[in-house]
Amino acid sequence: MAQLGLLERAALGIDLATGTIEFAGPWEAVPRDAMAPGCPVIDASGCVVLPGFVDSHTHLVYGGCRADEFHRRCRGESYQQIAEAGGGILSSVKATRAASGEELEAAARQRLHCFYSAGTTTVEIKSGYGLEQGTEIRMLEAISRLRETEPAIICATYMGAHAFPPGADRTAYTEEVAAALSRIDEDGLADFYDIFVDPLAFGQAEAEKIIAAGRRTGMGLKLHGDEFGDDGTAAWGAALGAVSIDHLGGISDAGIEALAHSNSIATLLPGTMFFTRHGSYAPARRMIDAGCAVALATDHNPGSSMLYSLPFVMTLAALNMGMSPEECITAATINGAHALQLGSITGSLEPGKRADVVIAAVPDYRELAYHVGRDLIRDVFIRGRAVKRKGLPAV
Ligand SMILES: [Zn+2]
Repeated sequence: MAQLGLLERAALGIDLATGTIEFAGPWEAVPRDAMAPGCPVIDASGCVVLPGFVDSHTHLVYGGCRADEFHRRCRGESYQQIAEAGGGILSSVKATRAASGEELEAAARQRLHCFYSAGTTTVEIKSGYGLEQGTEIRMLEAISRLRETEPAIICATYMGAHAFPPGADRTAYTEEVAAALSRIDEDGLADFYDIFVDPLAFGQAEAEKIIAAGRRTGMGLKLHGDEFGDDGTAAWGAALGAVSIDHLGGISDAGIEALAHSNSIATLLPGTMFFTRHGSYAPARRMIDAGCAVALATDHNPGSSMLYSLPFVMTLAALNMGMSPEECITAATINGAHALQLGSITGSLEPGKRADVVIAAVPDYRELAYHVGRDLIRDVFIRGRAVKRKGLPAV
């Protein structure tokens, strides 16, 4: 069972010059010389203080809005009908291709600020709505500008292998994605690359061609895998050393076993099942009991998971996947950080780490996943600077 290292009557000292945690421990043990005269003190009595949440799987950059499609789905229209009417991922591809880099950036920035408000201080963002390299690069450049101008840690993932463009020659498009990797790496545009391995997307042999090229770069491998059924992606991806394998609604016992004995993080995205009412929730309980390291993320995207809040994802994980409050918090903080290879700099409240801190207006951490639709996040600090204070935006 996950241990939170819970402390009551605790204090957190932050060095504002470096934006890192200087002290974390019992109030009585605060070093006498720790506080400079006049240094700001924030009273969090009656609250829970946590590490900022880490959302390690999002598609936050895209053009357009699919509210119409959402309501059609709610009325019972099938995916087929919606796709035929121009909906589905291809509608996002069309709108993203038509958007300028500035438009993509501005819309993503607004969404990112909603993430801050829900306590998220580290976000991974994928490309993948261009499906042609010009738009893919424009998406990655928008992510880069966010990274340069926003206080949060933002990781970029190249996901040219999100789907095949309509009418594409599969071999030619796979080669195009593989060929793009070295330039993206040289230009410092992405930390990771990601492939959707699925009977309806990329097969393992196609993915292996991309991975062969990816290995010649400094980028880490991520996979969307075993989403709707057991395709053997968990065991295959773990053997390939994937940093994380995400979705896993259809993971087999052999896949669980392989992941449990690997360094790959299992990133679970219950928002997609909630939002689409399709697919099965990943067997998180069995996975954690077997020894898998589980992270939770929103998978924010305009089609299948229009979610902004990791506390809400925790509610879904508790209700539908049998995760305990401690496991939910661990999965949305330190395990998310490990899914981004950032475990040594964020994801927990320890001296030397970034002062990415959330103050939740609840007396007990178990209440985080319990309240639904109520904003419990009182304050959010990134590197010690407020992005939200007393429930109000501070950026
Ligand atoms: Zn995704």
